Amino acid sequence: MTISEIKVRVEDIFRGYEDDGEDGIFAYNGKLTIRPPYQREFIYNLKEQEAVIHTILKGFPLNIMYWILTKGTVKKDNENHIMISDDAEFEVLDGQQRTLSVMKFLSHKLQIHWDGKAYYKDSLPDDLYSKLMNYEFMIYICEGTTSEKLDWFEIVNVAGEELTAQELRNSVYTGPWLSDAKLHFSKSSCAAKGLSEKYITGAPLRQELLEKALIGICELKGYKEIKEYMADHVSCEDADELWQYFQNVIHWVETIFPLYYPDMKGRNWCHLYNKYHTNSYNSNVMKNEVKRLHEDDEIQEYKGIYEYLLSKDEDPFAARLLNLRTFSEKDKTSAYSKQGGICAICKRPFSYAEMAGDHIKPWSKGGLTTPENCQMLCKECNSKKSDMY
Ligand SMILES: [Zn+2]
Repeated sequence: MTISEIKVRVEDIFRGYEDDGEDGIFAYNGKLTIRPPYQREFIYNLKEQEAVIHTILKGFPLNIMYWILTKGTVKKDNENHIMISDDAEFEVLDGQQRTLSVMKFLSHKLQIHWDGKAYYKDSLPDDLYSKLMNYEFMIYICEGTTSEKLDWFEIVNVAGEELTAQELRNSVYTGPWLSDAKLHFSKSSCAAKGLSEKYITGAPLRQELLEKALIGICELKGYKEIKEYMADHVSCEDADELWQYFQNVIHWVETIFPLYYPDMKGRNWCHLYNKYHTNSYNSNVMKNEVKRLHEDDEIQEYKGIYEYLLSKDEDPFAARLLNLRTFSEKDKTSAYSKQGGICAICKRPFSYAEMAGDHIKPWSKGGLTTPENCQMLCKECNSKKSDMY
């Protein structure tokens, strides 16, 4: 991988500046993508934006920014001058917020305070205005293979500006697959959000929905890391496979659990689909079970109901997902006293600390967490009990 250091004047970057909202933000005569389409909204607050302009007006250095070369070449000539080809295009990897603060000020969308007065760009004294326009951004331009770039960006980003892991991956694996994936998953009004809003949390513009879908399909198809899947699909014509997968997940949830409850939102549905979609379930039975369990006071974790119902036939300990009520110290002490410190099963004596409160009639058979249903067992007998729940 090669890294070239260049300096670009603010005036040159501002040339051709265009804020197309969700369709992206561009500058530097269209050669620079400051923010790619369907990525997060501006996040610096006014004070932070103003601080960037102050830094420039005081002539202090801003930290180095990083641009990725997405097209064309950057070379050094014999005298070590940087030569940028005419067709070169860049994307800001690190420095998006700082660049946007300056662009916002230059397009009259930001007011700053200087020596006790408020200024928009137009009212700025000539000397300050020319200082701003002639200020040079220090930029590292990186060229290399996608995996080299990603490895390196992951390190750089530790000290840089707040790009999420998925935004970083998106900046490297650009191509038709990503464009199509973003259409489905990354617009604030995208189809994936409309489809899954009731079930899956995540902000499309932060790439959280795309990331969740990718985590899901990677688990299903045996990819260890998202970047491996993206590398495999980077030149695919479209992201139909991922989109189809995501729709399957949601439709499966709607089929298995036909009645919607608000606690269905935020469950790890992709993972549950991957694990259980080949099993068959009767949706009528499921509907009644979901209702019955929601009315069960012994359950303290209603959001565990769905995974419990999906897994209970194969996992005897599935009820732990429900965080069932346990006996109070008072009930346990009372039972311990009544039993005279003797385990109700093995009949051997134990200290209070060596014992656990147990439901005589288990939850699955309708047993409640009441003093009459409490017995003390030694830990060994308790763990051997087959109908623990
Ligand atoms: Zn015992």
